[in-house]
Order: sequence, then C-alpha cells, then structure tokens
Amino acid sequence: MTGTLSAGPTGRSRRAEVAGAGFAGLTMSIALARRGWTVRLHEQNDQVRDFGAGILRWRNAMLALEVIGVAGAIRANGVRPGTYDTNLNGEPVSSELAGYPYWAITRPKLHALLVSAAREAGVEIVTGSRAVGADPAGALLLADGSRLTADLVIGADGAGSAVRNSLGEFTQERKKYQDGVCRVLIPRPAEFQGPEWDRVIDFWTLEPDPMRILFIPTGPDTIYMGMMATTTNERASRIPIDVEVWSKRFPHLATAVELAGKAEGGRHDSYQTNRVTPWSTGRAVLVGDAAHAMCPALGQGASVGIVNAVELAHTLDQYDEIGEALAVWEERERAMTDAAQARSAYMAETRTLAKGNGFTPEVMETANFALPAVTPEIEAAYPVPAVNRS
Ligand SMILES: Cc1cc2nc3c(=O)[nH]c(=O)nc-3n(C[C@H](O)[C@H](O)[C@H](O)COP(=O)(O)OP(=O)(O)OC[C@H]3O[C@@H](n4cnc5c(N)ncnc54)[C@H](O)[C@@H]3O)c2cc1C
Repeated sequence: MTGTLSAGPTGRSRRAEVAGAGFAGLTMSIALARRGWTVRLHEQNDQVRDFGAGILRWRNAMLALEVIGVAGAIRANGVRPGTYDTNLNGEPVSSELAGYPYWAITRPKLHALLVSAAREAGVEIVTGSRAVGADPAGALLLADGSRLTADLVIGADGAGSAVRNSLGEFTQERKKYQDGVCRVLIPRPAEFQGPEWDRVIDFWTLEPDPMRILFIPTGPDTIYMGMMATTTNERASRIPIDVEVWSKRFPHLATAVELAGKAEGGRHDSYQTNRVTPWSTGRAVLVGDAAHAMCPALGQGASVGIVNAVELAHTLDQYDEIGEALAVWEERERAMTDAAQARSAYMAETRTLAKGNGFTPEVMETANFALPAVTPEIEAAYPVPAVNRS
C-alpha cells in the first residue's frame, strides 16, 4: 500500500494508547503509526470486526484514506455507484451524482482492509481489552485495572464512549430522532446483476408513515439494504426483517425484501446526534462517534471520523506541544463536523431526500471537504463534477 506522508518535524518517538477498533480507532492508529508513533489499539471484543452491512465512502473519506494508503484497496474491493437515484412510491424522481467519486463497500471488507493496514503499519492490536476511562495527564485505564501511560490517549470507543464519559470536562448535546434503520446485506439477485444496477437507489414511500429502502450494491455478489422507518413502527423496526410489512410497501422490490428477511447478522439502530465540546482535555482526545455521533441521513458519520483522525495525526506532526496540536486540529475540523451533524439532523427531521434532487452544492460541502493533510495531487485524482461544487 502507498500513501503520501511528510516526515515528522522532529523525528521524535511518541506513544499512543487507543480505545476502540472501529473505523475511527483503526484509522487513527494507522495514521499515527505511519508517522512514527508506537501505537497500541484496544478492542473490548474478542475479535476485531464490523457487522454485515454496507457503507458509503464519500470523497472526503477517500481523500483521507489516500493519505494513509488504504483508498486503492477500497476502490478495488468496492463499487463506484454510477448515479444516486431517488424513487418515490415506485416512480423515479431524480438521478444525481453522475461521475461523483464515492464508493460503496461492505463493512466487514472495509474493516478487514483497515485491520490489515494497521498490522502492516506496526499497530499492536489487543482484543478483549476494555477501556473504562482516561487520565488527562496521559493514561488509559482498563477494566483489568491497568493504567497505561502514553503521550496521547485516544477514545475511539463509539457513541457510548467510556473514555469520554469518564472525563468530566466534556459537554454533550444529545438528541434522538423519530427514525431508525435496519441494515442487512443480501446476496445480489439475478435481476439486479449488471453494471446498470451499480447505482444507489433511494426508494421512499411516505404514506401512511415514512418507510425507505436504500439499495446499495457493494460488490458483484452483495447488496446493502438500509431499511428506514419510524421507531414507532415496531414491525418495520424488527430484525429479522418483517417481509410482509416491507414487501407490502415496496412490491417492486419483493425479491430483495424476501432475501432481506433471510439475512443473518443484520441490526437496527435509531438515529441520534451527540455534539461534544471540546474534543480533548490534556493528553486525552476523542475521535469518531465518541466525539460527534450523527444521524446517518447523509451516510457521513464514519467518513467524518476518518477525516478527523487522519488530520489529527497530520496536525500532531506539525507541533511539538500536544496541547497546541489538539487545539489547532479542533479549530481545523470543528466547523466542517458541526455542519455535517446539523445537516444530517435536518435531513433526518425533514426527510427531504424523499423529494429527490437533494444533493445540492450546499449538502455536498461535507463530501467535498478536503482535509489539510491532502496534497493537491491526491485531490486532483478525485475531481468533483461541476454540478456538485459549491
Ligand atoms: C444506519 C446507519 C448507516 C450509516 N451509514 C454510514 C455510511 O454510509 N457512511 C458513513 O461514513 N457512516 C455511516 N454511518 C455512521 C458510521 O456507522 C459510524 O459513524 C461509525 O461506525 C463510527 O465509527 P467509530 O469507530 O467511531 O465507532 P464504532 O463503530 O462504534 O466503533 C467503536 C469500537 O470500539 C469498541 N469499544 C466500545 N467501547 C469500548 C471500550 N470501552 N473499550 C474498548 N473498545 C471499545 C467497539 O467494540 C467498536 O469496535 C451509519 C450509521 C448508521 C447508524
């Protein structure tokens, strides 16, 4: 794997303890290790893995993943959707994002690519290792009573972050929304084979209550189905998928819904936002959902976490003082992240994507964001079609 890195300013050797081997923790660990840090990554589960659904890698994340040398593998293992089409009550309403550089991939595949890149970069991954907190003086506290000192302690332990919650310094603005999503991966049926089906299709019905199927091919053999409904629609919020309820509302997707009903390893999540301020205290910092969980309405949660993690490693390279680097980093990333959270919340509250033509230049600002660590050469390799530029 290749990537573009500048050498650290002082060539010093620093140590990080990272809690949580999700997309944010893995990205953070790779980015630091590739810049010369000694990194130990703690995962509470006995295995490092993500569950069986799919994920969109928007341009912002692809640029960041180029910096750490993982983007090529995602392009090779994922699907670049030709368009993002919206369909309301069985009728097409818009076709957008033609030529936009973004990819769909299965979560287990993306996770495996990051784990392999982390190992290649020299990250030590410890499973069955649960963090219970952090000391801002520079220590990660584990459930087994260990106190691991480090130059930097990173809480990448997801929306329910124990690292974050152990520190009194953070303010959290939490909000829950009316919708939730069942996510499953299905085998790709014959009727959806062929390059003409390599596109995202966002199927909506709004009456008597909103239900949505986000149809995303993730490879020649798999389709990711994100099946959204209000959380009060108990049958539509069930795993395994309630085939009767979903096929009644989406008769044109009967085959796919039937397969969704048989899918294993699916999961249901309700929408939530958590705006945390600040993102760091002393030598402890939060990345990913621990810092900025957001509604999945724009599919940007992991992308923003990946961008922020890569930029954190870059900024730490530029400053001798950790505290100064953390302040500069938050200054660089905060406005983009707040805007992504607010925009995703607005989309979730209004369900405005159902009307089609939702990817206005303003909505695309998050996806178009190029982190400071990205070189002009990398950016040029991901051109944005004129219609999607602000
Ligand atoms: C329906 C839905 C669809 C989405 N679609 C997209 C999309 O298309 N594109 C996108 O970019 N984002 C998407 N997201 C958002 C994305 O899934 C999250 O933002 C992302 O997974 C967060 O990654 P993370 O690493 O911060 O946290 P997590 O994925 O939660 O990972 C945290 C890791 O830390 C571990 N852990 C937890 N606590 C501890 C502890 N105490 N000690 C040690 N380890 C611990 C966990 O086991 C886990 O491995 C979607 C979200 C939802 C709900």
